[in-house]
Amino acid sequence: MEQEKCPYAQRCGACQFGQGNYEEQLAAKKKWLSQNLKPFCKVQDMVGMYYPYHYRNKVHAVFGRVKEEVVAGTYEEGTHTLVPIQDCIIEDAQASAIIQTVTALIRSFKIWVYNEESGRGVMRHILVRKGMSTKQIMVVLVTGCAEFPHKNHFVTELRRLHPEITTIVWNINDQQTTFVLGERNQTLYGAGYIEDVLCGLRFRISPSSFYQVNAAQAQTLYKKAVQMAALTGTETVIDAYCGIGTIGMVMAQKAGNVLGIELNKQAVKDAKENARRNNMKNIHFVAADATEYMTYMSQKGQRADVVVLDPPRGGSTKAFVHAVAAVSPKRVIYISCNPETLARDLGWFQKKGYQAEGAVGVDMFPWVGHVEVVCCLQRKNS
Ligand code: SAH
Repeated sequence: MEQEKCPYAQRCGACQFGQGNYEEQLAAKKKWLSQNLKPFCKVQDMVGMYYPYHYRNKVHAVFGRVKEEVVAGTYEEGTHTLVPIQDCIIEDAQASAIIQTVTALIRSFKIWVYNEESGRGVMRHILVRKGMSTKQIMVVLVTGCAEFPHKNHFVTELRRLHPEITTIVWNINDQQTTFVLGERNQTLYGAGYIEDVLCGLRFRISPSSFYQVNAAQAQTLYKKAVQMAALTGTETVIDAYCGIGTIGMVMAQKAGNVLGIELNKQAVKDAKENARRNNMKNIHFVAADATEYMTYMSQKGQRADVVVLDPPRGGSTKAFVHAVAAVSPKRVIYISCNPETLARDLGWFQKKGYQAEGAVGVDMFPWVGHVEVVCCLQRKNS
C-alpha cells in the first residue's frame, strides 16, 4: 500500500502519527493500551484498517482570513492561528471538495467571515457528514449571527456544483464557545438529516447527534462487542450512553430486550425513530442521565444481564459504576476511546466485583493518537 503524505503535518497537529509506518503505529497503540490495562487484563493485537485513509465521515472546518483571503481550515493546536487545509489524508475526499467549493462561494458572494476575537461576522464553520454506505451527504453551514446573506442563491449554487449533497442545514452559533454547532437549525434543502447503514441496520443522523467517525471500523468494533456479550436471545441489556442507539440495536438482534439511556434529547429522538424504521420491537430508549436512571431502576428492583457502556472521552464516574453494580449484570462490555480513563474505571469496577477478562483495540482513528478499545468484564462468583 502506498503511503499518503500529509502536507500540513507540521502545523495542523491532529495526526500525532502523521508520517510513520502504519504497522508500527498499530504496535505503538497496542503498547499504549497494554501499559494502561496491565493491572487488569491482556490486550489482543489492534484491528487495523486495510486502507487507513480518508475514513472520516464527519469533516469540520473553520472559516477565517489568511493574508486577507477567505480560507477554510483548522486552528494550529492550542492557538488561534488558522492553518488552511485543502485535502486531508484522513478526511473523506468528497467532503474536502465540498468545503473548498463553499469557501470559493463565500469569496464570490463576498460574505463576511466570522472573527472569533471580535465576535462579529457571518460564516463561521462548515460541517460535512456522509453516510459511507448510503452516500448521503449533509452540509451544515454555521453562521455566527442570525443572518445569511444571499441564502437561497448560495444554496442553489452549492447544489448545482455538488448534486451529490442530499441535505443542507443552516445552524446559528452566536456564542463565544469552542463548540461548532449552536442550538438553532434551519433546514435549507432536503430532510435535515442523513442515513447510514451499519451492521445491516439503518440509522438516521442529525447535525448534532453522535455517530462514530469511522463507520467501517465501528462495524468491526460493534461485532466484537456483541461477541463479548455472549448473548443467547433472552438477556436484558442496558446500553448506557447510547447516542442514536447503534450498539443497542445491534445487540437487540441477539438479546431478549434492550434499554438505551442517553442524555441528549435529539439523539434519543433519532434512536426511537431508528428502532421504528428497523422494525425492532425489543428496544426502548429513555432520555436521562445514565447513573440516575440505573439507580432508579435498581430501587424498583429491576436488574440487567448485560450492561454496555460507551462513555465520552472523560470516561464514566464512580457513581456510574456503583449504579451498574446495583442492577447486577453478569457481564459489562466497556467501549472506550481513552485507555487512561478506562483503566481508572476498571479499578472502580474491580472494587465492585467486576473483573476485566480481555480487551481488544480497534483502530478507529489511523494517524491520530486516539485508541478505541472494547473490554469485557465478568461479575466474580457468577
Ligand atoms: N454509544 C453511542 C454513543 C457514544 S458517545 C455510539 O456508539 O454511537 C457518548 C454518548 O454519551 C453521547 O451521545 C452523549 O450525549 C452521551 N452522554 C454523555 N453523558 C451522559 C450521561 N451522563 N448519561 C447518559 N448519556 C450521556
